[in-house]
Amino acid sequence: MRAFFLGLLVALCAAGQDSVVDLSILHFNDFHSRLTPTPQGVGGAAHLATAIRRERANCTRCLLLNAGDNVQGSPVSTIFRGLPVFEVLRPLKTDAFVVGNHEFDYGHERIHDFVREAGHPVLAANLLNRDGKLFTGQASVILNRDGLRIGIVGVLMETLVPGLTTPIRFGPNQLLPALETLRAEAARLKDKTDVLIALVHLEARTCNDIVDQLPEYAITVSGHDHGGLPTMYRAGDRVGVRLRANGSELGRLNVRYDRTARKIVSADWKRIPITTAEFPADPEVAALVEKWESRVRAVVDKKIGTSPARLDRTQTREWIESIMRRKTGADFVHMNQGGVRDILPEGEILARNIWTLMPFDNMLVVAEVPGRLIPEFVRKGAAVEPDRKYKVATIDFLVEGWRSGRDEALRAFGQALPLDGPLLRDVLIESFGPSTRGN
Ligand SMILES: [Zn+2]
Repeated sequence: MRAFFLGLLVALCAAGQDSVVDLSILHFNDFHSRLTPTPQGVGGAAHLATAIRRERANCTRCLLLNAGDNVQGSPVSTIFRGLPVFEVLRPLKTDAFVVGNHEFDYGHERIHDFVREAGHPVLAANLLNRDGKLFTGQASVILNRDGLRIGIVGVLMETLVPGLTTPIRFGPNQLLPALETLRAEAARLKDKTDVLIALVHLEARTCNDIVDQLPEYAITVSGHDHGGLPTMYRAGDRVGVRLRANGSELGRLNVRYDRTARKIVSADWKRIPITTAEFPADPEVAALVEKWESRVRAVVDKKIGTSPARLDRTQTREWIESIMRRKTGADFVHMNQGGVRDILPEGEILARNIWTLMPFDNMLVVAEVPGRLIPEFVRKGAAVEPDRKYKVATIDFLVEGWRSGRDEALRAFGQALPLDGPLLRDVLIESFGPSTRGN
């Protein structure tokens, strides 16, 4: 009898020990098509790949998650409408990716191309097409790592229009509330899994809400807020992690997890800075980067025209404003000096010159605005009639800033302007003559 109880005790202890397992989650977010490192040697797809390979080498149960916004942010994305980013990152063997708002930048239909090219699950549990079916075809994925069944559910912010994309880019699709969708998907997956991870692309506040309010999810891996988190966000035994953008960091979250209690026992998180000095380029990924960057060079190193004189920064801004006026026929145009990153040189002009002086994807926006709303810095001394409507052209970046600022008059002015239009860079390039854009 005694031996039996002793045996039972040993068995119970063994079960208890078995119940606690290690799990490591490698993750990044908001890669934003930064295929190459910065001039300071930060980031770069091939260097990130090496970091991932090294971390995987000492990892028992390992996952690689990408929390969205792979595209938009460099010429390769703009010129080739995002797709090369998925091709270049394919060798990373990502386990799951969630759609971010910028994945809509080339229109909702382009996301289907991303899904095809990615070679990994593309999750979006709260994004439905016009027929009410899952837009990417996949809400979640269940992975098995050495007997541990890991459920990963992907959701993005429930509002993209207005603010984050345009009605045309969003298309006839619909978004469901993020938290409710996560809750429903957790109920569906609970019996089939030992641990649930929320992989989300959401405002920072909502990421915290998941950790606070959804005990079903032990772990929340998020993206969208480019600042990342300085330390893990914790509530009870749940944790949330998020990194800085542009492939500048790789995260590693190590947890000891009790699968019987469905609880994290302990967790530690490190943010690994990706530098070319620390992580030499992975040859396979480097070859893919070069394949696409050489095509970018072929587009941007094309002569588009000539400039009769070298313009200084102020004159370059004035030249940009003159093109904006010519394109839109606006009464008032406004471009910020800070958005002009280089000068227009004298002589032969390459598309690259325009990319360099206008690296941001600013959109040229135009609207009819009553005179009373137009601020002095846009009127530049000109008198206006308060109720007469004037055509005003500027860039979406400024409009967004005015809309969200503290100044009430500027907020009203911002609201009167849209957030959509052609890319100002394209307008500038086209001003020299026929389009030189590739596809
Ligand atoms: Zn985002």
